[in-house]
Amino acid sequence: MTSASDDRASSPAGQHTVRRHNLSLVLQAVLAAGRSTRVQVAHSTGLARATVSVLADQLLEAGLLDELDPDPTSPGRPASPLRLNPFGPGGLGVEVNVDYVAACAVGLDGQVRAQYAEPFESAAMSPRVTLRRAARLAARTCREAGIPIAGAGLALPGLVDGGGVMRRAPNLPRWNGFAAAEVLGLDLASSGLEMVVRAANEANLAAIAQVWYGSEGLRDFVHVSGDVGVGGGIVVGGQLYSGLRGYAGELGHVVVDPSGPPCGCGGSGCLKQLAGLGALGRGEPVRPARRRARWGLRRAGAVADRFAHRRAAAPGGEQRARTGSRPRVEPRTVRRSTGCGRLGRGASAQRS
Ligand SMILES: [Zn+2]
Repeated sequence: MTSASDDRASSPAGQHTVRRHNLSLVLQAVLAAGRSTRVQVAHSTGLARATVSVLADQLLEAGLLDELDPDPTSPGRPASPLRLNPFGPGGLGVEVNVDYVAACAVGLDGQVRAQYAEPFESAAMSPRVTLRRAARLAARTCREAGIPIAGAGLALPGLVDGGGVMRRAPNLPRWNGFAAAEVLGLDLASSGLEMVVRAANEANLAAIAQVWYGSEGLRDFVHVSGDVGVGGGIVVGGQLYSGLRGYAGELGHVVVDPSGPPCGCGGSGCLKQLAGLGALGRGEPVRPARRRARWGLRRAGAVADRFAHRRAAAPGGEQRARTGSRPRVEPRTVRRSTGCGRLGRGASAQRS
């Protein structure tokens, strides 16, 4: 007699799931080690050597792994180490922001194969025109990358739902309710680039990138993007904290000065109005502008800190609080994106 779980595992769907899981285990083992023989993969994953050999052959055939020459200096019979194939399928990143579009192709090994950014007044154009421009830039990037592209991520400066629809974009009001991921997918397909496209908030994606590729091993931090708008991505315990509705990191429209300048969101004195690139570009003297930006970013960190504490107090965070690992976002763990580099360059240009 077999149990229900045995039936599931031996069913075609169950076997497919197990196989996918084991393929993923092998890939992750090779990724973690940089290069690894089949024997080493079997040791680190706990899978049988024969199973690892079969899975590795499938990954080699799919172009996801690459096999290097045996190391003659290794003890015993030399084995051929495996690594992620730098010429295997990679990913495409596309960004639309208020005043530029950008595209980047990255290989499986994490290396940037090609990237372009160009000024573009997205706020003055329709979303369709803007995405067509972004798709053209993406197609050029993919051509130059010289690797097959498996999928794309679209970074947007606003509130994006799980279906890739821009729900609210105070800096790009024409995008409200626009199915950005779907339209970019169609534009890419018309250039011969059929792929799945997913869209998300740009600051959240930058925060995830910091977790995956950052060298500092940060697990609890806030990434703040300073550009025309100000955005934030909150990471708690190495996971993106998106809040009840998925918009927890949206710091730019937190009111920090109710008597401050009006904002496109309908409020007044939002952080964006005090610390965004546009605020600094209104001809203010450099020192007060930079001081104001620093103050705004500190406030952003404090606001995010409160979000993180609420997370600890929420039902999902109870266990975290009990075990004493309640997240605390210290000022030194507020990461700033390259957009803030633009703030700095802008300030330098004003100074000169
Ligand atoms: Zn606002």
